[in-house]
Amino acid sequence: MAEIIVAATQNKHKIQEIDAITREFGMKIISRKDAGVPDVEIVEDGDTFEENSYKKAYEIMKLCGKITIADDSGLEVDCLDGAPGVYSARFAGIDGDDEANNRKLLKLVRDVPYEKRTARFVSVITMVFPDGESIVARGEVEGHIMLEAKGSNGFGYDPLFVPVGYDRTFGEIESEIKNRISHRANALITLREKLDNRRL
Ligand code: IMP
Repeated sequence: MAEIIVAATQNKHKIQEIDAITREFGMKIISRKDAGVPDVEIVEDGDTFEENSYKKAYEIMKLCGKITIADDSGLEVDCLDGAPGVYSARFAGIDGDDEANNRKLLKLVRDVPYEKRTARFVSVITMVFPDGESIVARGEVEGHIMLEAKGSNGFGYDPLFVPVGYDRTFGEIESEIKNRISHRANALITLREKLDNRRL
C-alpha cells in the first residue's frame, strides 16, 4: 500500500502538482484538512526557502503526528537581485494575488533586454517524520521572464516564465510537461533519491 503523506501547503495548485509527481513514486498525498489538522496559520518569516519549508512541515507534523511534506518555493529574477525570492507569494502586497504580482514583475522588467531577463523557479521540499527527523531537497528550473503574460495553465508566475529549451511559458505548457521539468519535480526527484538511500 502507498505511504500516506500529509501536505502542509494549502495551495491547491501545489498539492495537485505534488500529488501528480509523487503518485509515480508510489506515495499518496492527502491534504492537511483530510488529515484532520485544525486550520492554523503558519507564519512564513524565514529568510530562506529552507527555513520556511522546514517550519511548515514541522508545525503540521506536530499537529497530525504523520509524515508531512512542505514546499516553499518562489521565483528569483537575476536583474532584480533575486527578488521576489521568498516574498514571491506576496510580492505586490497581498498574499496569493497572482495577477498583481505578475503586473508588478512586468513593470520592473519591461525595459530589460531578453538576455538579462534570466530567472529561476526554486522549490525546497522538506519531509518531516513523526520522530522529528527530516529530509530536505531543493529543485530549480532556469528560464527567462517574458514581457507579456501567456497561457492559463498552472498558477503564480507561470504565464511569464519560459523554461530553458522551450518557447512557451509554463502557462502554455501542458501540466504533464511542467511536472517533469519543474523546480518542484526536481526537488521531489531528489527527495525520492534521499529517501531511497535512507532505506537501504
Ligand atoms: P509559498 O507558498 O510561500 O511557497 O509561495 C510560493 C509562491 O511562489 C507562489 O505563490 C507563486 O507566486 C510562486 N511560485 C512557486 N512555485 C510556482 C510555480 O510552479 N509556478 C508559478 N509560480 C510559482
